[in-house]
Amino acid sequence: MRCPNCSATEDKVIETRISKEGDTIRRRRQCAVCGQRFTTYETVIPAELYVIKKNGTKVDFKPEKILSGIRQACWKRNVSEEQIDRMVAAVTTRISMEMNQNYEITSQKIGEFVMDELKKVDEVAYIRFASVYRHFKDAEAFVNEVQNLPSQNNETP
Ligand SMILES: [Zn+2]
Repeated sequence: MRCPNCSATEDKVIETRISKEGDTIRRRRQCAVCGQRFTTYETVIPAELYVIKKNGTKVDFKPEKILSGIRQACWKRNVSEEQIDRMVAAVTTRISMEMNQNYEITSQKIGEFVMDELKKVDEVAYIRFASVYRHFKDAEAFVNEVQNLPSQNNETP
């Protein structure tokens, strides 16, 4: 993105919102050079997209659920708005690439995409999401999951 003030291309995302209609991502950005704040609107989500739930029901895709799910998982973790934004973008891109010709994707796949992204960023956030998502039935499943985590250097203080 080019800064409207000084034309620099370095910026950071300070806030991400998804429109009520669910098809546009609005990003508040700040220029890394002059500090100018500006907003971009990006249409990245297919207007027509359905989620097939585990019980087989088909519902409208709600991208804000991805954002709020990631936010909840990252609650009080050292994860920046920029990182959350990148995760939402990565998940959205994968959904648009992997939906079928009827614009459908399973809720299971979406959950896996979110877990893939969280795993790269913060292991606590990942475990939070995974434990809710996968409904760990026993301690063993949980331990296996933890052992499969990549080693990270940003340890909990
Ligand atoms: Zn600037």
